[in-house]
Amino acid sequence: MEEIRRSCADCAVIHCDRQDSAYPPFCETANMDSAVLEAAKARYDEDNNRQVMQAAAQVEYEGYLKWCRVQEIVEFARRMGYHKLGIATCTGLIRETRMLAEILRNNGFEVYGIACKAGAVPKVEIGIDEECCKIGKNACNPILQAEMLNREKTELNIVMGLCVGHDSLFYKYAQALTTTLVTKDRVTGHNPAAALYTSQSYYRRLNHL
Ligand code: SF4
Repeated sequence: MEEIRRSCADCAVIHCDRQDSAYPPFCETANMDSAVLEAAKARYDEDNNRQVMQAAAQVEYEGYLKWCRVQEIVEFARRMGYHKLGIATCTGLIRETRMLAEILRNNGFEVYGIACKAGAVPKVEIGIDEECCKIGKNACNPILQAEMLNREKTELNIVMGLCVGHDSLFYKYAQALTTTLVTKDRVTGHNPAAALYTSQSYYRRLNHL
């Protein structure tokens, strides 16, 4: 049997965080190449990375167990001095996106949103298998969404429920920093962790797909 490469994905002690036990034998901190660590630390001096880290830490600290994620985004954007926010939304979450836009505008931000089906490009036109049209004729267009937000020069983008893979392309092509408010999961009410919590009981089938 192939040997499993153990890593943080297998850790149950997180001593790097809690400092109350000991590092496991496969620990990524205990066995870390210090050059990689130092290079990563040095990169916080690039662009506005340090400001992002400081603002994110402040939001985490001030809002810990108090602020929902919508508020955290508002507070983060404020601390970064952003005014123009972009929303890349799934059409299936357009109602929630309208609500979000209203909240953001009520808090003084300028908002520009672009839906996944904007451009109305048929799936077959970009080489997607015809059978996929059974659940909708037009394709999601995450690269277009990214380009439209880039043209609008948004300062922070918010993802609202883009599909798996579409979100990946959006992150790849968006120029501004992006945060995610909603992670789409059509069967768990957009709570993908629910499947993990039940993966040793009701959702056991996930272990052998
Ligand atoms: S760095 Fe070490 S202690 Fe921290 S999560 Fe990874 S394996 Fe666990």
